[in-house]
Amino acid sequence: MSVGGVDLEDLARESARLETATPQEVLAWTFARFRGQRVGLSSAFGAEGCALIHLAREQQPDVPVYTIDTGYLFAESVALREAYRAMGADIRVVEPLITIRTQAERHGPDLFAREPDACCEIRKVEPMRRILTLLDVWITAVRRDQSDTRQHTPIVGTAARPDGALVVKVAPLARWTRRDTWAYIFDHALPYNRLLDAGYTSIGCEPCTRPAAGDERSGRWAGRDKTECGIHHL
Ligand code: SF4
Repeated sequence: MSVGGVDLEDLARESARLETATPQEVLAWTFARFRGQRVGLSSAFGAEGCALIHLAREQQPDVPVYTIDTGYLFAESVALREAYRAMGADIRVVEPLITIRTQAERHGPDLFAREPDACCEIRKVEPMRRILTLLDVWITAVRRDQSDTRQHTPIVGTAARPDGALVVKVAPLARWTRRDTWAYIFDHALPYNRLLDAGYTSIGCEPCTRPAAGDERSGRWAGRDKTECGIHHL
């Protein structure tokens, strides 16, 4: 099977080869290998997203950064997004197809409290599917040590578009630890979400995010089995 002119076996070989590469080397390979194709980042402006935006823009300053505004973001997250825009990043905000008000009219108020998977589908996963239609290569800030569900993240993999076509998915920070992330942020004096100084270790929508009590993502949908919004299952 061919993906953007690269077959899946070749992608798997490259992914294995890049297991010992630095994030800078993975990004350099990505920008060179897919030159002329639509390469972009997605970020929710977590600590690793901030580091990845800086790393990527060091090599390609105009790389687009797609971000989803669910309508439930913390004010601190929106302010951070705008700080990166002010630094010159090409931030492209994608919103759900319906407002929170329309969602409440159709599904009842506070869908996040009753059916968080349905709420995430409307406010995160569907927008991410639209973003994938704009990209041939999706660069993501996922790290393997963030949670059990992320421990097998390949350096280079694929994600599926709604029409079944595949997008190359690159995770330059897959092998980084939390400590690596923060070392990079402090070494480069990067802006980061101040909620991360207040006990939060992973920040999503305000109604579904609490300070962490366990692993890094334990403050997300705390008290539920849910650990992922679904965008990384595409
Ligand atoms: Fe809805 Fe919560 Fe998912 Fe945000 S994280 S889209 S509020 S269920």
